Amino acid sequence: MIDSHAHLTSSQILPQVDDLVDRAKEAGVKTIINICTDQPSLEEGLKLAKRNKNIFNAAATTPHDVQEDGETFFPIVERVVDKLIAIGETGLDYFYEHSPKKVQQDFLVRYLQLALHTKLPIIFHCRDAFGDLFSIADEMAQDLPAVLHCFTGTKEEAKGCLDRGWFVSFSGIITFKKSEELREVVRYVPLNRMFVETDTPYLAPQSHRGKQNEPAFVVEIAEKIAEIKGISLSEVDKIVSENISRFFRLEAIG
Ligand SMILES: [Zn+2]
Repeated sequence: MIDSHAHLTSSQILPQVDDLVDRAKEAGVKTIINICTDQPSLEEGLKLAKRNKNIFNAAATTPHDVQEDGETFFPIVERVVDKLIAIGETGLDYFYEHSPKKVQQDFLVRYLQLALHTKLPIIFHCRDAFGDLFSIADEMAQDLPAVLHCFTGTKEEAKGCLDRGWFVSFSGIITFKKSEELREVVRYVPLNRMFVETDTPYLAPQSHRGKQNEPAFVVEIAEKIAEIKGISLSEVDKIVSENISRFFRLEAIG
């Protein structure tokens, strides 16, 4: 199984990172995509990937932090881009709006240009901003392979992603008791268009709710998808892992 989105080298869990990777392996989660969002997490991510051949890095400033850290981090990402397997997470978050909308849009455009230039796939973060994300992507990046990470939108918004050829990635939120509407979206999205992810250290699934998340828990998310779709866990694992491997071109690397 693959955890397609974890912040393994974020400062809050970095001291435990090797334990988390070991526990993931024991749970059958052999491959992890590590999402680096600033210079320290990227430096640690590159070291981590050197000692683990099944950990791969993506990088970008999140839409939350672009105001403060966007200018500093962008050239650093550019410099090591040949060591990355994707650009992201980038996008728009109008729910929190920790950075001004205009600044979020500017960095989304810059990261899209970088992805197009380097032919790397892109990982989107989007909350309450699908209209703007779709119009920016339609204008400049129609054929770029993309995934909408930690999807929490509506069925309509999921359709917007699928219509554009994007993948939709589901996190532990689909296991929460109150997420009935999101489980409807899981029912709607075809298995061959979805990813699973933990978004470690955030958003632990229901059985660990409120505690620190870790890649091993991605199994619980896949189990929930199996239950919703009425198929076996191994079938979910097979197809979703194939989606993720192909998207990030993991076979070509490993
Ligand atoms: Zn994330």
